[in-house]
Amino acid sequence: MKELLIGNEAIAFGAIEAGVDVVTGYPGTPSTEMLETIARYNRDGRIYVEWSVDEKVALEVAAGAAYAGAKSMVAMKQVGLNVASDPLMSLSYVGIKGAMIVFVADDPGPFSSQTEQDTRAFGKFANLPVFDPSSPEEAKEMVKEAFKVSHDFGLPVILRATTRICHSCSTIELTGRVDASKAEGFVKDQRWVIFPSLTYKNHLVLEEKKKELSRLFSRSSFNSLSGYGRKGIAASGVAYAYLKEVMDELNIELPVLKIGTPHPFPEDLALKFLNEMEEVLVLEELYPVVEEQLRELSAGCKPTPLILGKKTGHMPVAGEYSVELIKKAVCAFLAIELQEEEALVELPQLPPRPPVLCAGCPHRASFYAFKTACRGKKVVFSGDIGCYTLGNAKPLETVDTCLCMGAGITIAQGLHRIEPDTVNLAFIGDSTFFHTGIPGIINAVYNNADITVVVLDNRTTAMTGNQPHPGTGRTAMGKEAPIIDIGEIVKACGVGYVKKADPLKLKEAVAVAKEAMEHKGPSVVIFESPCAQNIKSGTPLYIDERCIACKKCIRDLGCPAMYMEDGKPCIDSSQCNGCNLCSQVCPVNAIVPVGGEQG
Ligand code: SF4
Ligand code: SF4
Repeated sequence: MKELLIGNEAIAFGAIEAGVDVVTGYPGTPSTEMLETIARYNRDGRIYVEWSVDEKVALEVAAGAAYAGAKSMVAMKQVGLNVASDPLMSLSYVGIKGAMIVFVADDPGPFSSQTEQDTRAFGKFANLPVFDPSSPEEAKEMVKEAFKVSHDFGLPVILRATTRICHSCSTIELTGRVDASKAEGFVKDQRWVIFPSLTYKNHLVLEEKKKELSRLFSRSSFNSLSGYGRKGIAASGVAYAYLKEVMDELNIELPVLKIGTPHPFPEDLALKFLNEMEEVLVLEELYPVVEEQLRELSAGCKPTPLILGKKTGHMPVAGEYSVELIKKAVCAFLAIELQEEEALVELPQLPPRPPVLCAGCPHRASFYAFKTACRGKKVVFSGDIGCYTLGNAKPLETVDTCLCMGAGITIAQGLHRIEPDTVNLAFIGDSTFFHTGIPGIINAVYNNADITVVVLDNRTTAMTGNQPHPGTGRTAMGKEAPIIDIGEIVKACGVGYVKKADPLKLKEAVAVAKEAMEHKGPSVVIFESPCAQNIKSGTPLYIDERCIACKKCIRDLGCPAMYMEDGKPCIDSSQCNGCNLCSQVCPVNAIVPVGGEQG
């Protein structure tokens, strides 16, 4: 049976067919749909699926299952791998028993990330095998092979995909077969206890495994050599798919080295290629991983071929590649003149559409409440990762810093140590609070940092598509779960001032904000209001004749449902969700519900 699937779904079906037993992860674009697909198609509940509180936890749960002989898979985006790097680095020395895939989605561009890091390089750093698909079909096939390699070598295997693989569609063959699970359970053995002396021995074993893997990968169907000539191209990941398209379009044949397993590098195959070459152009997004390996190997070739790529300025070192970009590079490499009509067409500029908080988003009210309460004070707003990073935009301008998950609370503490007279506020979402917020709260209490933490609790992981978390009362498998109360956690950490409020009740929210900031030592305000996307809209509002066109509503809030027409503010009732925030800022009560006046 064939189905039209995105790459993440193809990977999920690859795992289901391979008989995966346990799947864990933390949501993050562009990886999220993989775990969601497994949860959705796991109708008999045979596979255990969980959204874990963070990537480190997710990786450790998957590792535990693999210790017991299961096939496990953990999913995350590239920055999530930084959080999970501690257990991953050790796991390469300890190894696993069943089979384990670490699925990491990289984000060249980037579209929704703080870094353009390359997980292929991380795999090399961690001494782990890496698979790098060039299409959704190949990604599905690689899952099965990655489980096999993981089991045969007793190592976790990284399956790294990029945004265009994760999110592009392809017709994928689904077999409907599921390999039987063979988890035999945990067997006690000293190998599971990491000690320095064992680490030394395991390091030597690991180096031998890498050599063996390099030989195996030279014979793998995911790596290939094709074509004849003295000028060739090496390509990896989606860049290989783009190259094939360009070669078809230009109707050219040339030697191509395709690399689907960038680590350990398939050296025998690469040497066979290099020995025939005078010049090689390397096409790969993000880091020059293949380029560096080829350059190193080429030093032993006589004559030494010239390796062109990012390091020589022939390819861009940052950003996403495209068919057009590769066509230009290939034409330059082969001295093919781009015909006038083939020259890159300048597309007309799209109208600017800066990202904004949704109409009716409670975060807008939370930011506005604190901004109002701080008026006249010197204040720094430390932000965090989530929809609420958009508080950075005008007119709110309530995100002065944003570094990584959980960093708002701790950056605020560092700022406080240097500028104790400044009001230091840290905003964090509910999912991010569970992810990496709690240690920062404990640190603030332990070291008595005079900061105010504002938890924006909208009861979901909104930015990645509404995944559940420990505060939502449900699991990834749709089961009921205990609701972990953020207020109780914060109190248990020893915070002296903890108050919950509804940010859409503006007066009350401003009063709580003032009280929290006056408290000496760490204080926490939990603004509870559901994500606007998850509730039924209320009665939309409109602006009546009492409006004096002061523009305060537009100037202060930046709600996308409001716009100016003929010098007067208006509300687009199809966008307005009736949150009533604007009606509370209007000085003359001119904003009222459609179909009824308010006082
Ligand atoms: S705040 Fe009120 S009076 Fe001022 S522009 Fe908006 S609707 Fe009109
Ligand atoms: S009530 Fe006002 S602030 Fe809320 S969504 Fe409608 S226009 Fe925007």
